[in-house]
Formats: sequence, C-alpha cells, structure tokens
Amino acid sequence: MKISWDEKTCIHSAKCVENLPSVFKVQDGKFVIIQDGASAAEIRRVVGLCPSGALSVS
Ligand code: SF4
Repeated sequence: MKISWDEKTCIHSAKCVENLPSVFKVQDGKFVIIQDGASAAEIRRVVGLCPSGALSVS
C-alpha cells in the first residue's frame, strides 16, 4: 500500500497528524509520511478523516 499526499489540495487541518502521528508528522517544517508507521486499516481510517481529499492510498 502506498500513501499519497497532494500538497496543493491539503488545507492543513492537521487531522492526519493528530489522529495518526506515527505515520503523519511534521519534521523540520516539512510534512512527512512514514509509509509503514501503522496498520493498513489504521491508515485507511485516518485517510478517510482528511477533509480535503489530499490523502489517498493505492
Ligand atoms: S488531514 Fe488532509 S487536509 Fe488535513 S493536514 Fe492532513 S492531508 Fe492536509
């Protein structure tokens, strides 16, 4: 599974970093995604919380 993030679509609501910080985090001012930081089910759940549609899994 691969998590993708569309920077232009993101509205910086921080739902992802608040709900799954083992995967979605800000390091040195940059948004990073730890692809294997949680189970596929957890990742899908939190991707579904993104209000802008900037996150997707494939
Ligand atoms: S939840 Fe979606 S809109 Fe909010 S910061 Fe994360 S990627 Fe951006």
